[in-house]
Amino acid sequence: MNMHESVGTAVGTLFGAISFVVGLAVMVFWMVVAWRAMRAHERIADAWERSAKGETDPNAVKPCAACGKMMPKNYTKCLHCGHTQP
Ligand SMILES: [Zn+2]
Repeated sequence: MNMHESVGTAVGTLFGAISFVVGLAVMVFWMVVAWRAMRAHERIADAWERSAKGETDPNAVKPCAACGKMMPKNYTKCLHCGHTQP
């Protein structure tokens, strides 16, 4: 083994290791993104379910009587159009 071959092997090993770490980091990143998206979806679904059941939940949302846009259930005035809720 001469000097040139040994440097080439070291670079190849290093590149392989970097590729592996980058691949792993990208995989972990997407797993975290997917997990967060799933958790956020669960919270929204839960809020909708509670809203449908009419439970008192400060995080629950309701549609505005005037514009139909969603706002927290305990709000008396619409965030979007300012309409006072019945
Ligand atoms: Zn409104």
